[in-house]
Amino acid sequence: MDRIIVVGAGIVGASVAYALSQKGVPVTVLEAQRPAAGTSRASFAWPNANEKLPREYFALNAAGLAEHHVLADTLGGDWFHPTGNLEVVTGSERRDHQHAKVARLQDWGYRAELISEVRARELVPDLALPDSASYAFYPDEGWVAAPVLIHRLLEVAQASGATVRFPMRVDALDVQNGRVAGVIVDGEHLAAGLVIDCTGPAAGRFLDPLGISIARQRSPGLLVVTEPVPTCLSRVVHAPGVHLRPDGAGRVLIGSEDVDATLPEEGDITEEIHADSSWCRELLRRAQAVLPVLAGARIEAVRLGWRPLPADGRSAVGPVPGLSGYYLVFTHSGVTLGPRLGRLVAGEVVTGQACPELAPFRPDRLLEGHEPARRDRGAHR
Ligand SMILES: Cc1cc2nc3c(=O)[nH]c(=O)nc-3n(C[C@H](O)[C@H](O)[C@H](O)COP(=O)(O)OP(=O)(O)OC[C@H]3O[C@@H](n4cnc5c(N)ncnc54)[C@H](O)[C@@H]3O)c2cc1C
Repeated sequence: MDRIIVVGAGIVGASVAYALSQKGVPVTVLEAQRPAAGTSRASFAWPNANEKLPREYFALNAAGLAEHHVLADTLGGDWFHPTGNLEVVTGSERRDHQHAKVARLQDWGYRAELISEVRARELVPDLALPDSASYAFYPDEGWVAAPVLIHRLLEVAQASGATVRFPMRVDALDVQNGRVAGVIVDGEHLAAGLVIDCTGPAAGRFLDPLGISIARQRSPGLLVVTEPVPTCLSRVVHAPGVHLRPDGAGRVLIGSEDVDATLPEEGDITEEIHADSSWCRELLRRAQAVLPVLAGARIEAVRLGWRPLPADGRSAVGPVPGLSGYYLVFTHSGVTLGPRLGRLVAGEVVTGQACPELAPFRPDRLLEGHEPARRDRGAHR
């Protein structure tokens, strides 16, 4: 089989390269910065199918979560923490939503349970529980140390013959006679039988000069990491207005969809977002209210990422009609989905058979002229 070039070494590119290498395909990964330098290093990295709709997108994410459990056994390494997700909600509307969701997930064969306050305390003893709250627990979920997983995937891929080159920025696709014949790097042509675009938020941008436009949303996401604190927090927690999880050696990673919804969407906002900015202080304040051990804790790191977000919020995976030699993998929830998509994409590429599981997620629905429904801001995890 001809060499395949995978552009981008985030969780998606690393997963695709790993899966191809396990099928004996010659593969080269080209990464502009270094592996795990993009959104994958700034992710909450909670593998889940918790709020994923419609049914086929739920099914893809549920398979994505299951794939992590399998991969942890196959790959080894200390990157997967399937310690579960505790959800705390207040107010009758949110409680009704939670109860309906748990019933739906159970009906669809996904492990989810309503639990008592006593059980919630046992699961996360450090938490300050609000009055009249309702609790659910999702035992198969957890968190992934995404950069560690990326390293492991690339390590095994390289041991199986893959080449990983960085820093090496791909400037353009090399299109000859209407077919992608490779990529252009520093004016040089690198030939490939197939180019798989796994460039995260930039995925599909190579198509712009060809007059092909993939409909997308801009979606910044902010997380802060505290200094190490004396906590036994070991699980993902979703509390009213804030979510948090451990991030190694007593550090706590904090995010909030409400705070994300207030971030500027345009321009370069990296200078504006620092530990003392109102957004970061608000995240810490919200987390302190549910995890009192954070009182007085400092913010050690700020992580701002751009979600790779197709216009309708769902994955865009596959060839682009009218352009052979090119394959797009553009997805949000890439930590959940990366390993599963890697397996499906490799299978499709090697056999030439279209994978039914990917049928609802083809890029053609996002091409100019199509008008996919946009999802609301703030519901992107
Ligand atoms: C705040 C936040 C929270 C999130 N929480 C979750 C969550 O809980 N669960 C979940 O599943 N997902 C979550 N996500 C989404 C998830 O992190 C992303 O979908 C995933 O990391 C995307 O991975 P990727 O490999 O596609 O992109 P990236 O990690 O961005 O990797 C793309 C790589 O391509 C490289 N690249 C770009 N252009 C070029 C070029 N021209 N040449 C060569 N290389 C190039 C970049 O340098 C980068 O390394 C979250 C995202 C954010 C921002």
